[in-house]
Amino acid sequence: MKMKMLIVITIIVAALIPSVTAGPWGQVCEGNPTNEIRGCDDFGCGYYTAPRQQGSRMHLGVDVTCQDGSAVYAPFTGMIDRRHNPDGPKSIIKNGLRLRGSGFCVNMFFVKPVTYRGWFKKGEKIADMLPMQEVHPGIISYVHIQNCDFANITHYL
Ligand SMILES: [Zn+2]
Repeated sequence: MKMKMLIVITIIVAALIPSVTAGPWGQVCEGNPTNEIRGCDDFGCGYYTAPRQQGSRMHLGVDVTCQDGSAVYAPFTGMIDRRHNPDGPKSIIKNGLRLRGSGFCVNMFFVKPVTYRGWFKKGEKIADMLPMQEVHPGIISYVHIQNCDFANITHYL
């Protein structure tokens, strides 16, 4: 009898949990509630350790799909450490942030920050996606996120 009750409760609780959710981090980009990672296009793939033609280093970040001009949200609660630009040549999408908080430190690239200082809460808008299509026509536009020590952050998404 007790066991049956436990099973019933378990089923009820399981039913209350949404089937599609992001990981421990919140939604990164407007229009991408599951933090879908960029697949492969003519310019490369978005997963961690994807090969890169330029230089010898692999892709040590994760690319979260994000259409140009979309709002970009804080994945966790914390503070803006500073402006932090991606490597590479100067371009209109060369902008980004270093975020710290909740035990995390990450860089987010190809976004135009709302501000370069201050605190934010998980889910708060912190930036806008820059016009990546103008620089790489046909690419799957994305926010590049990498851990400050280049560890794999995929499971947080
Ligand atoms: Zn990337």
